[in-house]
Amino acid sequence: MMKEEVDLIVEGANEVVTLRGGGERPLAGDRMRDLGVIKRGAVAVRAGRLVAVERTDDVKARFTADVVIEADGKVVMPGFVDPHTHLVFAGSREDEFEMMIEGVDYVEILRRGGGILRTVRETRKASVNELVEAGKEVLNVMLTHGTTTVEAKSGYGLNEEDEIKCLKAMQRLNEEHFVDVTPTFLGAHVVPPEYEGRPDEYVEFIVSDVLPKVGRLKLAEFCDVFCERGAFNVEQARKILLSGKQNGLLPKVHADELSQIGGAELAAEVGAVSADHLIFASDVGIDAMAKGGVIAITLPTTPLTLMIDRYADARKMINKGVAVALGTDFSPICQVMSQQLVIALACRTMRMTPAEAIVAATINAAHAVRRAHEVGSLEVGKRADFVVLDVPNYRFLGHCFGFNLVDKVVKDGELVVNCGKLVK
Ligand SMILES: [Zn+2]
Repeated sequence: MMKEEVDLIVEGANEVVTLRGGGERPLAGDRMRDLGVIKRGAVAVRAGRLVAVERTDDVKARFTADVVIEADGKVVMPGFVDPHTHLVFAGSREDEFEMMIEGVDYVEILRRGGGILRTVRETRKASVNELVEAGKEVLNVMLTHGTTTVEAKSGYGLNEEDEIKCLKAMQRLNEEHFVDVTPTFLGAHVVPPEYEGRPDEYVEFIVSDVLPKVGRLKLAEFCDVFCERGAFNVEQARKILLSGKQNGLLPKVHADELSQIGGAELAAEVGAVSADHLIFASDVGIDAMAKGGVIAITLPTTPLTLMIDRYADARKMINKGVAVALGTDFSPICQVMSQQLVIALACRTMRMTPAEAIVAATINAAHAVRRAHEVGSLEVGKRADFVVLDVPNYRFLGHCFGFNLVDKVVKDGELVVNCGKLVK
């Protein structure tokens, strides 16, 4: 029998972790423990898509390729999807981190001209080109750590011109970088200085001026809001999210991060794709999310960075049937670019098993950015976005932390990271 010609075969992997079976809906409950592992597995790729994900013997019997990569002793799994980042901004805040360690509180940091409004000032001054260049540096690090799809939020412009500038920077990053970038509008991140003490007027401005324009220009797929004391209350957040929906943007919520104010309940009420953070989410809110199919994006790096001794109760969420995802929450104050680290932290701080954490950082994260039909698992027809990890089985992910396990990254069928380094 003539063998079928393909572009690339990766063969002999100790394990191919497929994550199959989560195509239609995110994996919840016990299903988060089934990774669909194929021992001595292989994948075949043609025109950037997977054409076979099977045992090595079966793939070799059917296919031949010019480029064959030997993954002997290693793990092949989907590229990580990072469903929550604040990717686009200017400047840095390493000095504030030091202040936080010394016990200076956030109000005092703000008084000294720091905090989020400092990033807003610097981002407003930056050009699109500068934002794109800074974003590429971050995406390079993310890619070498195995992340192939990244959600990015605006929210450091806080006026029409600069919010749109940040969304345009994301559009260019998506076009110019290997990593796929999914754009989220977070104009309601905090109340900008121009509207100090007048949050309702700022919400009105976002709803009547900015969101219609963002929708018309198709610059964002999602609309997020920081629903928190000192930011936007439930009523204001609801207004933003419903207006986002009317303008074609799917809702997401920064919910119950620092206090319990009903963010999880709001996410369920408006049919949000995800509710994120959830450190203080109520039982009623978690039940509503389970019922409404809202994905919980938990972000263990955030309490660690803020030095808060409390984490989202991912165990309770999983037990109640909520699909849990994991993200880095990369931001000026949370300089984490590796989903491997997030998985390791999720295991230790939230008692997720490595299997659950892997599901959360791949297929469930793909659902949380509405890309599960394309990425997040290794299945025939999906895009060939995968990593080769230099470990004998998937359990080392989570077990190991503090160094990069990635040997290779293949994005859309192309080898873009080899021996842990960018190919070009
Ligand atoms: Zn965030």
